[in-house]
Amino acid sequence: MKQASVKERVCRNCKRIVVGDTCDLCGSTNLASTYQGLLIIIKPELSEIAALLNIKKEGYYAVKVK
Ligand SMILES: [Zn+2]
Repeated sequence: MKQASVKERVCRNCKRIVVGDTCDLCGSTNLASTYQGLLIIIKPELSEIAALLNIKKEGYYAVKVK
């Protein structure tokens, strides 16, 4: 398990790694400070993992949110 730094959080809604208090993808403020695993999605349209997780925007995502 990775302990995120103070500013780095994970959106519980879409699992995106965000900096700040609001998810820049879905707008949720329901953020977790700890998560497991890290997914780096560069080309969501070409990624099977992204399709599986319904990720449509490139960026960093957690595998599991605590
Ligand atoms: Zn989100």
